[in-house]
Amino acid sequence: MMPSWYLEKPLGDYVAIYTGKSGRKIATEGAAGGGAITSFLCYLLDNGIIDGVVAARKSKGLEGEIVVARTRDDIIKSAGSRWQVLPFTLKLKETIENESLRSMAIVGLPCQINFLRQMKTFPLLETDFSNKISMLISLFCFGTFAQESVLSYVREKYGIEPSSIEEIKISQKALKFIGDKEVEIKFDEITKYMQVGCLLCPDYTGIASDISAGTVEDKTFIIVRNNEANEMLKDANKKGYIEIENVNEIEIERVEKKATEKIKRASSYIAQLL
Ligand code: SF4
Repeated sequence: MMPSWYLEKPLGDYVAIYTGKSGRKIATEGAAGGGAITSFLCYLLDNGIIDGVVAARKSKGLEGEIVVARTRDDIIKSAGSRWQVLPFTLKLKETIENESLRSMAIVGLPCQINFLRQMKTFPLLETDFSNKISMLISLFCFGTFAQESVLSYVREKYGIEPSSIEEIKISQKALKFIGDKEVEIKFDEITKYMQVGCLLCPDYTGIASDISAGTVEDKTFIIVRNNEANEMLKDANKKGYIEIENVNEIEIERVEKKATEKIKRASSYIAQLL
C-alpha cells in the first residue's frame, strides 16, 4: 500500500509554484521546459552560485549521456538537445568524482534526486560527493522505457528497424520515432514496456528536489521547495534570466492530477505484486 500522505500531498512540500519561461537575457530556443530551467542554470552560473551543471541529455534513440556544462554556452548548447528524462545514476557518480567541480547543480529524475538528497542528508560513504551539490533540480517524470523491449515491439508491430531510427521524441503522451518511417505511439500502448521500477514509482515531480520543473498541457511549471531557492528564482526573474508567473488553483490542480495518476498507477502495480 502507498502511504496516505502521497495522495494528500501529490506534489510534496513546496513554498511556491510558478509557470515560467526563458527571459530576455537568454535565448534558449528548443530547450526543455521552454528554456526556463536552462535560463535559471545560466543565472546560477553567472552569479557564482555554481561552477557547473551535471545533467543527462539524449544522445541517440532512447540512449542518454551525461553532460557537464561549465559555461553559459555549454548549458545552452546542451539544452538545445533537450535535458532528458533518462536513468543515469551510476554514470553520474563516476562523472562527479572525476570532475573538478566545487559547487554544482544537478538536473535529474525524481528517483535520482531522491538518491542524491538522501546522500546529502546522511553522508555516510567515504566516496560521498554530496558536499559538491548546491542545487538539485528534478524534471517531472512519468517513467522510462526498457529500451530493447520497446525497439523490438516497434520492429514487430510497425516494421521499423532500430538501426533506421534517427531520433525518438518524447512528448507528454507519446513517443515519436523518426527515421525512414515516422510513427507516433501513445504511452498507453507501450506502458507494459516501461521499466518495472517506474511502474512502482509514485513520484511524478521529484519531491526531494530544491526545484522541480516540467511541462503539463504546454505550460512549464516550476515547483520551488525552499525559501533559498525561491529567492534565487525571484532574483533570476528580476535580472531578466527567467519570466515567472504565479499560478492559480486550477493550474495547480492540473499538475496534481498528473501526479495523482502516477501515485494510483504505482498503488495498483504494488497491489498486483502483493
Ligand atoms: S518513473 Fe520514477 S523510477 Fe522511473 S525514471 Fe521516473 S523517477 Fe525514476
